[in-house]
Amino acid sequence: MAKIGIIGTGLVGATSAYALLLSGVADELLLIDINEKRAHGEMLDLTHSMPLCPPAKVNCGSWGDLAGCDVVILAAGANQKPGQTRLDLTRQNVEIFRSIVPQAVAHCPEAVYLVVTNPVDVLTRETVRISGLPPHRVIGSGTVLDTNRLKNLLSNRLRVDPRNIHAWVLGEHGDSEFAAWSLTSVAGMPLEAFCQVMGGDRTAILPHLQQLFDEHVKNVAYTIIAEKGATYYAVAVAVRRIVEAVLRNERSILTVSTLMDGAFGIRDVCLSLPVIVGRGGAEELLPIHLTEAEQVPAAVRYKELMARDDWQSRGEAF
Ligand code: NAD
Repeated sequence: MAKIGIIGTGLVGATSAYALLLSGVADELLLIDINEKRAHGEMLDLTHSMPLCPPAKVNCGSWGDLAGCDVVILAAGANQKPGQTRLDLTRQNVEIFRSIVPQAVAHCPEAVYLVVTNPVDVLTRETVRISGLPPHRVIGSGTVLDTNRLKNLLSNRLRVDPRNIHAWVLGEHGDSEFAAWSLTSVAGMPLEAFCQVMGGDRTAILPHLQQLFDEHVKNVAYTIIAEKGATYYAVAVAVRRIVEAVLRNERSILTVSTLMDGAFGIRDVCLSLPVIVGRGGAEELLPIHLTEAEQVPAAVRYKELMARDDWQSRGEAF
């Protein structure tokens, strides 16, 4: 029996609940929101889909009801407004996490915690710090969404099913994220080789894709937020994918955000690298090789974060 708690049933939390319900991965979903009416309304709406969904229960409740959850999803907090960066949400959402994480962990100390609220890397770090949980049981959705956006971009440009593409967006879920082009492959071939066998220009492909990456992956959330106010469908599917990997002990390789412990010289901040995800959460960091150029964005962001008086790790400076 798998029980999933979702804290914060706004657009992201409720859409994630819907995606999880359709997937059939959970036997029970528990919805919690400071706005109790909202959680109750979402519970009623979701429940009315049950006759046509895999069997599960949807409940709403309070902290004590979290007991026994296998996964707790943290999606509470403010979202980006047009023109805001994810990091602009830091102060507000760190304060919310300082109120919700201790209560959740007090009632449910055994779960894997999945942080979705932005800035997701900062809040994953903060959740590790406040909760006292082993770091592998606190994961951020990280760049799983961005990786899907990249696969979508590559699928459109190369005209091939995204499921035949291996590609990763790494680093921060935010403005310094980067595509690990050197590790990208299609049908087992490096990107340039695939382009060549398909009759394309292998030398032109990477500069072309790098240009498209900025618009269609790195900055696309700004476009969506300007046009419809928020992003939620694709992140909900990313949440479903991560939760499935945990509950089914898949040991899938996903670009979730985890506490860095020295890889690429980075420590004490959370960033996304390929991680083996299973029942224990972030079970192992994959020891990958990146080119010098690919290491630069993560290293720059790391230095920026540490230069902020190391506030990520000490949770101060607000
Ligand atoms: P929203 O405003 O629709 O919902 C937020 C919910 O949090 C509200 O229902 C609110 O009542 C609840 N909440 C606030 N404080 C709370 C508390 N103390 N306890 C319990 N509930 C509380 O926002 P949204 O669009 O659902 O976005 C939620 C978060 O997800 C934002 O930070 C957004 O930036 C982030 N997000 C992350 C990704 C990602 O890839 N990680 C993608 C999209 C959005």
